[in-house]
Amino acid sequence: MVDIIIQGGQVVTPGGVGNWDVAIDGEKIVAVAEPGSLALEADKRIDAGGKLVVPGGIEPHAHIGGPRQPERSGAEPVSLAAVHGGTTTVLDFATQVPGHDLHHALGEAAERWQGNAYTDYSYHPIFTRGAEDEVIGQIGELVQDGYASFKVFTTSIRPPSPQMQDNKTDFGRLSAIMDEVAEHGGILMIHSEDDDMVSYNYDHAQGRGQWDWWNMHHIHSNLSEDVSFRRAIRLAEQKSCPIYFVHVSADEGVEAVGEARGRNLPVYGETLHNYACFNAENYREDNGMKYHTYPSLKSPGDADSLWQGLLDGRLSTVATDLVSTTWEEKIRFKTVADVTGGHNGIETRMGVAYSEGVVRRGMSLQRFVDITSANAAKIFGMYPRKGAIAAGSDADITIIDPNIKGPLSLDDLHLEDYSIWEGWPVEGWPVTTILRGNIMVEDRNLSGSASVGRLVRRKIDVEVLSKPVC
Ligand SMILES: [Zn+2]
Repeated sequence: MVDIIIQGGQVVTPGGVGNWDVAIDGEKIVAVAEPGSLALEADKRIDAGGKLVVPGGIEPHAHIGGPRQPERSGAEPVSLAAVHGGTTTVLDFATQVPGHDLHHALGEAAERWQGNAYTDYSYHPIFTRGAEDEVIGQIGELVQDGYASFKVFTTSIRPPSPQMQDNKTDFGRLSAIMDEVAEHGGILMIHSEDDDMVSYNYDHAQGRGQWDWWNMHHIHSNLSEDVSFRRAIRLAEQKSCPIYFVHVSADEGVEAVGEARGRNLPVYGETLHNYACFNAENYREDNGMKYHTYPSLKSPGDADSLWQGLLDGRLSTVATDLVSTTWEEKIRFKTVADVTGGHNGIETRMGVAYSEGVVRRGMSLQRFVDITSANAAKIFGMYPRKGAIAAGSDADITIIDPNIKGPLSLDDLHLEDYSIWEGWPVEGWPVTTILRGNIMVEDRNLSGSASVGRLVRRKIDVEVLSKPVC
């Protein structure tokens, strides 16, 4: 007797794609077997005929609101949208602030999530400007505690904004952080832009007539991505530190990551589905700042390169860079120095990657699972517990109906009062989402609660840290 059998679907497993039955008991997958061969009683049978059965999505990059960012939506509404979109694990951030250490940051993140989670979750600690040696010295114990990934910014992003001044980590501290991350078995996520170039571009933006929001790509430029990625890769190579570039936005970034991986360095790249599907020309629309997230959207050719990188393996993951705000907040600021960043598309990530990747660009189903789930599980230390449909893995499963077609409407979505994806023609959409054996969404209707989600302790496999395995 088991709790659930999912039958009749096309199942994507680490070993291949086939028509198998999947048995779930308690929180785990207990068997993947030929149709009808499971001689088991089940409390519930889910008919997945004509549908696709994939590992629950893993969102590697989300900034959840809390008391210090009241304008952002919190864990409950964001994770609710995530499960509706087929995502079962969300990785948020724990930002160290001057005067406090990383444990304090993790405590704040835990307060945001505990009891408010429709998904499982963890956080990447973020270092900010002037991190003291004592704070950097906490990396080893945090890895031991199950927080194996850390993040830095190489730029203060918007140098004219006083509230952004704490973001930047200088290259001196960065090298000290890399030493510790490498020694203790962690990975370093880098928001990589050349701070000198970005600052210079801001200084000259008004004189060049580039002050309105639609000039964002001239400030956060391709050249900045090129130079900063290569500098970060060089330092990481010297320090033997595995790195992960968040939100690769330009052809230059894809190239730099691809070259480093070609030299067998443990370098990984993420892009965002909005970066791959929209471009800087969209900024010109009325209220076109709605498309913006930092660094910036680039040209249509760059967006093509991002898809190419996702298809050919140079890029490993597709993320959201979630910062979820209301429409009013999103369009409030109108210059390159103050536009609201972030993307509320956590619900659209899986469906858009399927429609645009598999249906329109011929991406294999295995590759689709890699970029939406398995690779993030590997890189951030959750595999094969997460990111795999296999006996022994957590029963985190998403069923996609390829027959759902048409333009997305706001009624399809569950987060905020606007979406840049409104009207987007999708082909295929998540309909049922299971988190550790709990049916969270069934046939697009909510059935789980916000008390189900748990913290995931993470430990990264040594292979992932020594060469580009995914
Ligand atoms: Zn981010």
